[in-house]
Amino acid sequence: MNTEGSMKQIADEVSACNKCELFHSREKGVPGEGPPDAEIMFIGEGPGFHENMQGKPFVGAAGELLVELLGNIGLKREDVFITNVVKCRPPGNRDPQPEELAACYPYLERQIQLINPSVIVTLGRFSMARFIPNAKISQIHGQAIQTKGMLIVPFYHPAAALHRPSLRSVVEADFATLPDLIKNAEKTPPIQVEEPREENNQAEQLSLF
Ligand code: URA
Ligand code: SF4
Repeated sequence: MNTEGSMKQIADEVSACNKCELFHSREKGVPGEGPPDAEIMFIGEGPGFHENMQGKPFVGAAGELLVELLGNIGLKREDVFITNVVKCRPPGNRDPQPEELAACYPYLERQIQLINPSVIVTLGRFSMARFIPNAKISQIHGQAIQTKGMLIVPFYHPAAALHRPSLRSVVEADFATLPDLIKNAEKTPPIQVEEPREENNQAEQLSLF
């Protein structure tokens, strides 16, 4: 199967998935969207209200800001692959639970292997924690980190900038570093992604982002 076919297969599996409790409350699964050969992959937390209704990632207020931030660096939403660490909406937008993150991770892992992006941008702490365990987003946001053959760049979640306007300029500055990062990142051979250890699944119970 070609990459596009395999991506479609993942989307079909997500729509029918019942591997965790989140399937009970979902309207539509949100596998993610974007070019199968995207250079950049954005990984958010999980679908919210609008995403759940439309089956598309980042189509609400946080998505609007994401599109604006991409526009500032000359990118369109269609240029990048956008997905989440859980593909179904946690009821009431609660935090995804460790067992839900673990159940859903294989979909993300397959997407990463298929797309093989030059840069993975994590949005928010749940997404960051899948790749960089025990880190504090306030300390490492905007820093490119090479791990297991992937270049990971943790950013604040756009929703954090909506909740805390003082973060807006920080988020904008982080996005401004992306064009150079992409230019410098070499396409690496297909990457192997390891299942994170159990401790990585323990989300920090700090602030929301
Ligand atoms: N927030 C996320 O983390 N993901 C979405 O898809 C939308 C909002
Ligand atoms: Fe399946 Fe992921 Fe949806 Fe859970 S969140 S039901 S693992 S697709």
